[in-house]
Amino acid sequence: MPGRDSAEFFLHISGMPKSAQAARSSRRNLLKGLALAAAGAAVSARGARGAETAKVDVHDSQAVALGYVENVSQVDPHKYPQYVPGSNCDNCLQLQGKPGNEYRPCALFAGKLVAVSGWCSAWTAEM
Ligand code: SF4
Repeated sequence: MPGRDSAEFFLHISGMPKSAQAARSSRRNLLKGLALAAAGAAVSARGARGAETAKVDVHDSQAVALGYVENVSQVDPHKYPQYVPGSNCDNCLQLQGKPGNEYRPCALFAGKLVAVSGWCSAWTAEM
């Protein structure tokens, strides 16, 4: 270590806080970066989830097989004699998700949303 009166000692002392300060500053910047990255990841995860939830296409093979329609008024009762007047997705046991939304998940169409005003031949009365 340089002598206490030397310029070298002064430079040594004055250099320490600067490097300590630089280390603290770089730690602070790293933490800020991590916080921003975490916030960004949360936002993109929300965006990705939103993008994943598609509505059931009435032309999908499963939708066609079940006679799914987006509006119950389109049901042909001759083709689907099991149709119960007043039935729709909104009062079907298979409907999931939050009441009040126009489109909600259905247990039969995994990962997709059906119209609450819709209907299909798998309709089951709520209990
Ligand atoms: Fe609608 Fe029920 Fe058919 Fe799902 S199973 S599409 S909720 S009628």
